[in-house]
Amino acid sequence: FIYLFNSNITLGKNGVPVAENFRLEQSTIADTVQAGQVRVKTLYLSVDPYMRCRMNEDTGSDYLRPWQLSEVADGGGIGVVEESQHHNLAKGDFVTSFTWPWQTVAVLDGDSLQKLEPQLVNGRLSYFLGAAGITGLTALLGIREKGHVAAGANQTMVVSGAAGACGSLAGQIGRLEGCSRVVGIAGTDEKCSILVQEMGFDAAINYKKGDVAKQLRELCPGGVDVYFDNVGGDISDTVISQMNQNSHIILCGQISQYNKDVPYPPPLPPDTEKIQKERNITRERFLVLNYMDKQEASVLQLCQWIQEGKLKVRETVVEGLANIGAAFQSMMNGGNIGKQIVSISK
Ligand code: NAP
Repeated sequence: FIYLFNSNITLGKNGVPVAENFRLEQSTIADTVQAGQVRVKTLYLSVDPYMRCRMNEDTGSDYLRPWQLSEVADGGGIGVVEESQHHNLAKGDFVTSFTWPWQTVAVLDGDSLQKLEPQLVNGRLSYFLGAAGITGLTALLGIREKGHVAAGANQTMVVSGAAGACGSLAGQIGRLEGCSRVVGIAGTDEKCSILVQEMGFDAAINYKKGDVAKQLRELCPGGVDVYFDNVGGDISDTVISQMNQNSHIILCGQISQYNKDVPYPPPLPPDTEKIQKERNITRERFLVLNYMDKQEASVLQLCQWIQEGKLKVRETVVEGLANIGAAFQSMMNGGNIGKQIVSISK
């Protein structure tokens, strides 16, 4: 059996993660499955921006445990039960967990797993790591809990990190919930054209080209009412400078700051903070894990939209456990469109 261990994970201050922060090893697992346990074969693993914080000794968040040197890394995963000694799980069941070990095969505590219903996502199991999983929940609950979106209120929403997993869903959900105009900000022309042509965004700005402030002014002539912020930094300062009185920031993430040694959420620069205060713009911390009481109903809503074709889903899939470190590095650098998935075995 092959395990992926992470090595040399403590990047220190301002470190940029690379594939070599991880290493692949072959090992054996227990050959007996104890009462309450299951043996699972891993099918899909998720790589996510928060994992960068787990590469520090101090993750900056009490809910995130740092990965330890030479321990098996873990994160969101999906697999199939091969042998069960758990009363509620049977051979062939598909299951998921937020703390799935980066292994091809594992013996896990059955109570730590949630059973999945593949028909909810038309058999596309990996969607439970993305559009029908934490990412979709983050987009939907972020908008519902912090966005103050109201149908008929003629609101303009801007989404940064718009072609990523959360962002691509957030713009579409903003529209479904009632925003009249949705503008995305993303890192390539290809991403921008997918947002407009496939995902129904009204317009998209490539932040690596041209003057973002000028384009935003042209594309949001009535100002910005709701800002779904995935990135922070200069992009967010520019968006906030064009936000309206009593408008709302959904503080989803700040990926442009994750390799830096700053607290979370990073404080706004003084000029931006002044605008935020003067215009009474809300910017409350949002953490999807605080809303898990709404998980079941929200997943059903997301699955319904997926089945109805109202929520378009994109994934970038890398094959093989050996490539998970590279997939993480690529995602952190914008190599993905939609959710970055690692497919482990067919
Ligand atoms: P993702 O957007 O699929 O992937 C990360 C993307 O960030 C990359 O594709 C890249 O796209 C962009 N990026 C990287 N460096 C950047 C920079 N310096 N400036 C601007 N953009 C940059 O990842 P995700 O899983 O959907 O996560 C998106 C955000 O949501 C992250 O900040 C994450 O921490 C946050 N999140 C929060 C919660 C919560 O509960 N609050 C839950 C899940 C995720 P480009 O090509 O556009 O640069």
